[in-house]
Amino acid sequence: MTEGYDFTNRTALVTGAASGIGAACARWLDRNGIGKLVLIDRDGDGLGKLGLSCEVECHQADVADEGFWQSLEPKIDRLDHAVVNAGIGTGGRIADLDFAEWRRVMAINLDGAFLTLSTALRAMRKTGRGSAVVTASITGLKPVPGIGAYGVSKAAVAHMARIAAAENAGHGIRVNAIAPGGVDTAIWNSPDNEAQFAEHGREAVIAQMGKTTPRGRFATADELARDIGYLLSDASANVTGTVLTSDGGYTL
Ligand code: NAD
Repeated sequence: MTEGYDFTNRTALVTGAASGIGAACARWLDRNGIGKLVLIDRDGDGLGKLGLSCEVECHQADVADEGFWQSLEPKIDRLDHAVVNAGIGTGGRIADLDFAEWRRVMAINLDGAFLTLSTALRAMRKTGRGSAVVTASITGLKPVPGIGAYGVSKAAVAHMARIAAAENAGHGIRVNAIAPGGVDTAIWNSPDNEAQFAEHGREAVIAQMGKTTPRGRFATADELARDIGYLLSDASANVTGTVLTSDGGYTL
């Protein structure tokens, strides 16, 4: 076992675990010997198809539902790691975006991340240790026209992670964010994203992003899981409050 990567007898919570980066994180933690996974997604069928070998507790739920977190919290007896990851994409320029769409994105990407992270931090404080990773995005670091609500939500969650890191370092808890560039997942085919592709079409936008990434292609969800796994693990024991860019050089 590589030094710092022992997850034996630990419990990790992952949101958005039914697909893409969240599913890859669940599988990565399973392969690396995690004791128990608490998996949350609004897609209950997807959660049931992960094929994991560790103890698994699945919750079909909306991360933006405060009542869900209030009912889950008293049942968490131990939490070592959290991947605050569920999110949706969207299109639309700030001037044209209607308020209902803005609120829909903020409810899931920002309110949902707040509810997840705050619940996880309180659970971790009981044992005085833990490590959480919030999935942000390069669109929260660099303005990308046409996905305003998404970019603002991702800038906000990255900053939330930094604030939480400052507030919890004294409690033995680390909080970091990951800012992926393009990752080959189902989010790119979601109807939520239609407006983003209205001007140039989906294929052209995806091809252009691949071309403008110095590495020349999108990342895989498994590559992101390895980066997130590092931030969760004791191998990054001195790293807190960072926003790790994993974008194949896109923001260079
Ligand atoms: P994905 O669509 O494959 O997975 C997202 C998962 O989140 C899905 O299983 C979905 O059901 C779940 N989800 C969405 N809203 C939810 C809600 N309200 N409650 C519970 N579950 C919900 O997409 P992904 O690319 O794996 O996305 C994971 C995270 O990575 C997101 O926060 C996304 O914004 C971020 N991200 C993705 C990319 C990319 O290019 N794929 C780039 C940067 C950041």
